[in-house]
Amino acid sequence: MPWVLKVTDSFSSAHFLKNYRGKCENVHGHNWRVELEVVGEKIDKTGLLIDFKVLKGILRDVLGVLDHRLLNEIPPFDRCNPSSENIAKVIFEQVKERLPEGVRVRSVTVWESDNACATYFEE
Ligand SMILES: [Zn+2]
Repeated sequence: MPWVLKVTDSFSSAHFLKNYRGKCENVHGHNWRVELEVVGEKIDKTGLLIDFKVLKGILRDVLGVLDHRLLNEIPPFDRCNPSSENIAKVIFEQVKERLPEGVRVRSVTVWESDNACATYFEE
């Protein structure tokens, strides 16, 4: 896939981790930063794989559900821990459903602080 596009966005929310001993077992918040990479083989007559505006809108819609919430109360995080790893996977799957034909998600990276992130991708 010769074209790779990347957009970033962020959201603020609270979470806690079950089956975990340490600071993250208590409710606390993060300003999560999300990087979304998509790939494709063909660009259109205008020279675009997908309009950045459209791509940002898709990411915004997906993150909007998570913003200013306690993540543990939102499915599927009522069943699986809202770790950065699981958040990246859920965003990946939700963006995937919304993309037009010819554009695929390559990876989703979720930064929970300036120096810690998790990336999800499918081979
Ligand atoms: Zn945390």
